[in-house]
Amino acid sequence: MYGKIHEIYSSISGEGISQGIPTVFVRFAGCSLRCGKTDTRSLWCDTPYALGPNQGETKPLSTIMDEIVALDPTHGYQILLTGGEPLEGKNRDLSISIAESIHSFRTHNDKPYPSSRVETNGSEKITLDPFFIFTMDYKLPGSGMEGRMDLENFQILEKRHNSLDEIKFVVRDRIDFERSIEVIREQKIQTNILYSPVHGEVDAKELVEWIKIDNPPKGRLSLQIHKVLWGNQKGV
Ligand code: SF4
Repeated sequence: MYGKIHEIYSSISGEGISQGIPTVFVRFAGCSLRCGKTDTRSLWCDTPYALGPNQGETKPLSTIMDEIVALDPTHGYQILLTGGEPLEGKNRDLSISIAESIHSFRTHNDKPYPSSRVETNGSEKITLDPFFIFTMDYKLPGSGMEGRMDLENFQILEKRHNSLDEIKFVVRDRIDFERSIEVIREQKIQTNILYSPVHGEVDAKELVEWIKIDNPPKGRLSLQIHKVLWGNQKGV
């Protein structure tokens, strides 16, 4: 089995409930969404270089695993499959194979977080598989991508009942925030909830005020600390 991979590296988790813990990143190439791009506003994707399915380097599963394992014993606390979109098209089978191998390797080696965390954009079906932990986006109206969300994923998250799963709302404006509150209510969301402001469009302090007033259950602000530490660099 082969896949298009952009980079495999170790750093710390930049956001969410795992923020700050040492993490091995596996970045897939390819995503068919284009978040934030409308007639008048521009794409806000953090990884525009990873959107094309033909970008990245073609690697066999065995090479990918060797690279992960080489980083894991000293640095890897959590393994994060990200992109691009790890569950889209051919990436999906590769993600499953990587996560199964990691689960087996880390369980036998008594590692914390044996399951791989997958950052997924909400348009692909998530799974009940225990070798995955999910950070699932729900794309709000300001992204222009809300129509691509797979609403069945909320039922799957509820069935999974995994306390490490999380849902991420990226907020562009007040309309987005109000829509997030509606979605939480409509879908009866019990999972951890992250709020991230679109850089340069919403003041994080204003978003804090909105969170304080509506106080969504398990909701928290999530800023990207890798950008605070290293700016907009790749591979950190
Ligand atoms: S889903 Fe993620 S990778 Fe795809 S365009 Fe949106 S932000 Fe970028």
